[in-house]
Amino acid sequence: PVKPLEANFTGGLLEPGPQHPDRQEAAVLDKVKLSEDGTDKGPLAGRLIGIKDNICTTDLPTTCASGILSTFTSPYDATVVQRLRASGAIIAGKTNLDEFGMGSHSLNSHFGPVQQENGVSAGGSSGGSALAVATGQCWAALGTDTGGSVRLPAAYTDTVGFKPSYGLLSRWGVVAYANSLDTVGILASSVSAARIIFSALNAHDPQDPTSLTPSTRRNITALSSRQRSSPLRIGVPLEYNPTTLSPTIRASWLSALAHLQTHHSATLHPISLPTTPLALSAYYILAPAEASSNLAKYDGVRYGTRASGSDAADGVLFSKTRGQGFGEEVQRRILLGAYSLSSEAIENYFLQAQRVRRLVQRDFDRAFAAGNVLHSDDIGKEDADSEDEGVDVIVCPTAPSLPPKVAEVRRQSAVEGYLNDVFTVPASLAGLPACSVPWEVEEGKVTGIQVMGQFGNDELVFDVASLLE
Ligand code: GLN
Repeated sequence: PVKPLEANFTGGLLEPGPQHPDRQEAAVLDKVKLSEDGTDKGPLAGRLIGIKDNICTTDLPTTCASGILSTFTSPYDATVVQRLRASGAIIAGKTNLDEFGMGSHSLNSHFGPVQQENGVSAGGSSGGSALAVATGQCWAALGTDTGGSVRLPAAYTDTVGFKPSYGLLSRWGVVAYANSLDTVGILASSVSAARIIFSALNAHDPQDPTSLTPSTRRNITALSSRQRSSPLRIGVPLEYNPTTLSPTIRASWLSALAHLQTHHSATLHPISLPTTPLALSAYYILAPAEASSNLAKYDGVRYGTRASGSDAADGVLFSKTRGQGFGEEVQRRILLGAYSLSSEAIENYFLQAQRVRRLVQRDFDRAFAAGNVLHSDDIGKEDADSEDEGVDVIVCPTAPSLPPKVAEVRRQSAVEGYLNDVFTVPASLAGLPACSVPWEVEEGKVTGIQVMGQFGNDELVFDVASLLE
């Protein structure tokens, strides 16, 4: 069902696409699945897909929910958008977000906030995509996940949110926030729908220098076909159970684990990911550092809407354009990033955070049975058959609490907002695949449960996520 689209920014969609059925009344979705000659139009034929507004489309503006790009329309489609169209999908529209992907509640938007009907946060930064799926405005949606921006909104809106291994899905035409962490993710109402989209998008893209090469992809396929234990071994990370964890979330986690054990004969294994407590701080150094560098190009000369009345002669062109064009949170990140990259701070902040990132990756490599295809020494690790052979996947909560009310979030400091990402950033720092699935803990209370896998083990993550549906 497609709801009427008013100019309703809180509802997720910023602007419907020209092909959207609301604009072309005659479109009957079942009919568009086949061409007139009866040939199949692709696995996503007639499916309405929402696109987060930091992913380029030629037929709609791409604003990143920022004043500085409020008038920008891309001359080309992002590769992921091209692939969706080639699979028969219809672009439903662009979805609202936190400006440039920076935020956890989709409140930092130039076009106004996203929020659920009951005044509850839709999560961020892909909150518009999540809400558009949750309210049936589209079949599925693309988001981006740098530190949790697909998984957190999924957990808050009872949808499925999938973040792929870093480098699997093309980022060509996706506006960069923090390049070493950015991924294109998928929001859908079922694991199987997310998986169909993943398959349509999962291909090497020569236009994206970080896209995994065909040979790495072959290694991934070869490894993952050998990488399944029977019974399934599930890791339960002790560091994800702090005393501050909401009791509802803990109860939900336990019940999801019990389900996997009882109904799917999985075995549960306590594991330790000791660097977890440092991961959030490292992320909030690294992501702003990369962001400050990426956003330097929006100066009103080469990129970005120039502030009115300013020209180079008055000496304030850059500061006026950037002061007016960027919102408060983006300005905060630029300052943070510029500071941590400065000569006086780089050793204590940026380089230290890079070291923490390596430790986070090492923690995961030690926990998983499967080797990491990115480290060639690890290939073959899965053949070891000792008692502590490692786990197949890790299952943990997506968020430390139930979704808060927007009014409550507005009273919080920026740093309190960052704490929501505590369980999602570790997989981002390590580039791992992770999927948040809704799990009903008690009547009417649904939380997000996160399944994380070794790098390249995206299919296994989907398999285990589907056991929780
Ligand atoms: N909330 C995190 C941040 O603000 C994650 C954002 C994202 O994944 N795009 O950086």
